[in-house]
Amino acid sequence: MIRAYTLCTGFIELDRASMVSDLAPGQRWTVPVLSFLVDHPRGKLLFDTGVHCQARLDPVGRLGPERVKRLTVKSGEGDDVVPQLARLHLIPDDVRYVANSHLHFDHCGGNEFFPHATFFVQRAELEAARRPGGVPSYSPSPIDFEHALDYRMIYGEHDVFGYGSVVLIPTYGHTPGHQSMVVRAGKGAQLVCASDACYTRENMDRDVLPNVLWNASVMRESLATLRKLRDQAGATIFYGHDPAQWEVTPRAPSPVM
Ligand SMILES: [Zn+2]
Repeated sequence: MIRAYTLCTGFIELDRASMVSDLAPGQRWTVPVLSFLVDHPRGKLLFDTGVHCQARLDPVGRLGPERVKRLTVKSGEGDDVVPQLARLHLIPDDVRYVANSHLHFDHCGGNEFFPHATFFVQRAELEAARRPGGVPSYSPSPIDFEHALDYRMIYGEHDVFGYGSVVLIPTYGHTPGHQSMVVRAGKGAQLVCASDACYTRENMDRDVLPNVLWNASVMRESLATLRKLRDQAGATIFYGHDPAQWEVTPRAPSPVM
């Protein structure tokens, strides 16, 4: 049996217009940072590792002065990935696989706590993140992902267990190699962890992109793919940073699947 759980691995306060670009700037709001634990018979998989604890203790030192101007980490002590896993009575070594949706600080901050896991990251993401001189409109967070970890680069769709139950799908655009995760269990039950391919339900419903992105036309295509999964295939979408959805989402130790 496959079970899936939502974990909240941080909170960030930022301008709402950075996430929904046609809104007037100046409205601050606090959004959750989500991770997901898939408890699969062939191994536990963690999707995203949240914000590193140091980012709330020493924000300028960890995130740099530029990022701190745009956002404030609002997490508490129990919001880091390790204590969140403890809600499920798990320790990092219980996690066999980690998939990073992308390599922004709020999605790979806890990578270093999983030295024995196998990491799945899109080749396009890791190569862009390591490109000397960087890539325009993309700010990866090397302090979070450059550790001695077992990164397996994948290219496009990746069926983790080989029979369609947990599939990583390319949803490029927010970053060069962003990916989302589809989890299927039993008849028809399908959930999609969109991560930052779609920050909030409003982005999808109104077809509005955020300001933070690498390539708008590629991101729009990915958003359309996710919308099809929701509106035509009946999938439940978990948006990347949607406070209203988080309010009504069952939290670990309660499963969402
Ligand atoms: Zn994010």
